[in-house]
Amino acid sequence: MKERCSKYEGLFVFQDSEALMSHINECEDCKAEYEKQQKVSELINEVKFYYKNKSSKHKQFTKVACASILLFVSSLSLGLAVKNEDLADTLRYGTTLSAEDLGFPVDSYGLLMVDE
Ligand SMILES: [Zn+2]
Repeated sequence: MKERCSKYEGLFVFQDSEALMSHINECEDCKAEYEKQQKVSELINEVKFYYKNKSSKHKQFTKVACASILLFVSSLSLGLAVKNEDLADTLRYGTTLSAEDLGFPVDSYGLLMVDE
C-alpha cells in the first residue's frame, strides 16, 4: 500500500500558498486533501453568510429562546411546588398545614370529618 502524502498540512501551515499550490498540482493526495478542505471552507462560508444575514433575527431568537427557557424552568418549579401541596405550604408558611389549620372540621386523629 502506497503511503499517503503528509506534506499537505506542513505546506499549508508553514509554506506560502504558492508552494502549496504547486505541490497540489503534482500530488494526488494533497490535491484531494485540498479539494476536501475547499469544500469544508465553502460550507463554513455558506453557514457564516446565513448567520450574517440572519444575525439580527438570530439574536432576537436567542433572546426569546433564553426567556422561554427561563419561563419554562421557573413555571416548572412553581408547577411542582403547587402540585406538591406540602411543599407549597412549607414554602408559604414554613410548615406543613394540616386539615385543621386550613379550618376544616377534623376528628381527634387530625383526619377530615365529613358530615353524612
Ligand atoms: Zn502531497
